[in-house]
Amino acid sequence: MSDPHEEHWREYRRVYWRSMGLTVAFFFGGGILSSVLSAAFRAPWVFPLAFVPFVLATIWVSQEPMRWPCPQCGEPFFSTWWYHNAFTKKCLHCGLPKG
Ligand SMILES: [Zn+2]
Repeated sequence: MSDPHEEHWREYRRVYWRSMGLTVAFFFGGGILSSVLSAAFRAPWVFPLAFVPFVLATIWVSQEPMRWPCPQCGEPFFSTWWYHNAFTKKCLHCGLPKG
């Protein structure tokens, strides 16, 4: 018997891996760019100033999988208003197993 939410979970995995790829790219890209700019300008404030946009971008791309809605109840699958668990195997609202 096929999972009625299979397409939903396929889309979640696509969003999750895109987020992970962008996080790694932003981490290394931000580090490399910040190092290059620090070497070019030779000022201690350049590295953190150049790295902050990449940190903010990483936080931004991580929001979509963190707030992914449950296909059964529509609530965020991995979080409640006070709690977040990215490793849960069941919806934190209705208990639907992760597909
Ligand atoms: Zn649910």
